[in-house]
Amino acid sequence: MTTTRFAPSPTGYIHVGNLRTALMNYLIAAKAGGTFILRIDDTDPARSKEEYVDGIKRDLEWLGLHWDRVERQSERLDRYAAAADRLRDMGRFYEAFETPTELDLKRKKQLNMGKPPVYDRAALALNDAEKDKLRAERGNGVWRFKLDQERIEWTDGILGEISIDAASVSDPVLIKADGQVLYTIASVVDDTEMGVTHVVRGSDHVTNTATQIQIIEALGGTVPAFAHHSLLTGPQGESLSKRLGTLALRDLREQGVQPMALLSLMARLGSSDPVEMRTEMAALIEGFDIGRFGSAPTKFDVQDLFPLTARFLQAQPYEAVRARIDALGVPADIAPQFWEVTRENISTLNDLDGWWAMFRDGAEPVIEDEDRAFVAQAMELLPEGPYDADSWGSWTTTVKEATGRKGRGLFMPLRKALTGQAHGPDMSQVLPLLQKIRAKG
Ligand code: GLU
Repeated sequence: MTTTRFAPSPTGYIHVGNLRTALMNYLIAAKAGGTFILRIDDTDPARSKEEYVDGIKRDLEWLGLHWDRVERQSERLDRYAAAADRLRDMGRFYEAFETPTELDLKRKKQLNMGKPPVYDRAALALNDAEKDKLRAERGNGVWRFKLDQERIEWTDGILGEISIDAASVSDPVLIKADGQVLYTIASVVDDTEMGVTHVVRGSDHVTNTATQIQIIEALGGTVPAFAHHSLLTGPQGESLSKRLGTLALRDLREQGVQPMALLSLMARLGSSDPVEMRTEMAALIEGFDIGRFGSAPTKFDVQDLFPLTARFLQAQPYEAVRARIDALGVPADIAPQFWEVTRENISTLNDLDGWWAMFRDGAEPVIEDEDRAFVAQAMELLPEGPYDADSWGSWTTTVKEATGRKGRGLFMPLRKALTGQAHGPDMSQVLPLLQKIRAKG
């Protein structure tokens, strides 16, 4: 059965970059009727925080990316220790004692000689007595996985045929000197034991994948299908890495971005299919094909989310936004009408606040000097409310007859006097909603 996982480390909130990973894995599982696991990669106790675990769940719930179960790496440490023991027994695991400074020096020497900065495996030559001595002097070493120095190949779901020479990659450290198990092995053990069939993640993981394939094979597991999506850049192709912090999902939510707008964009950005606004998850699932994505960096412009959000909202019936409108304090008898009038004039639901303040309190009138007398006269002619859809038409007909003004010269000064702006919804719809119009006239 198709099984995928989204495996964030709870060291921060989810941003648009990790959302792509979450969404693609979710869509693959959903399309196949499979299982989507939320795996919390919390093997680093110093950096993992419960607050982020909660934040990640809240963000995924907001988006409607429902997971079938949650797994936590911190609860599976005995499994990773067992796998480490097996690698040790196979002679694929060795302790190394170089300090970070020594490793750095080695790398610099290699680079100076024009060689790739690959760990030289000096630790493999240590005998037991030498290791005991180093351990006594420096404490425990790190544990490295001994790669088979051959080409590692796979067919990537996005990048196509990949072939990496293991000799150009350092033997990965899987356990730190303090005993902390690293993600590289924990992930392999989980993917194997949880029956993960597809792994989609960022292309910054390509080298990890190469080493993980060898670890999976050493442990007798089945290698899942891998796909690596390209990294997101800003609209001009600039790196987003520093700005991702400002593109957290919780911030986009606060700015009023709609989940389906965000998902519709992310499900297509970087693929050869056009971005299409989907209002239902089922349509998004149906229209998703990982094979359509390319390896080129993907340009992301946060501004694109607002027109999509506006389009999504325009298609929403009153019932869908009722709670939000209730919360504003719009009286129930005019609330559906308020939505009809405003929905084409908002980019996010946050814009409703301003519209309701205008309808409730009235706007600061904008009146040009040459219109002052005209507006005053028109206001005299405005009958007592309440108003309905015909009131604007009959009022402006009366004003036209009394003043001789017509067209734009008639309507625009009245719109600006009543709403404080030159643009907005049809005035025949606006008038019935203005709560204090006589007082402002
Ligand atoms: N915790 C890893 C990360 O956030 C997971 C990578 C993976 O999907 O295997 O980068």
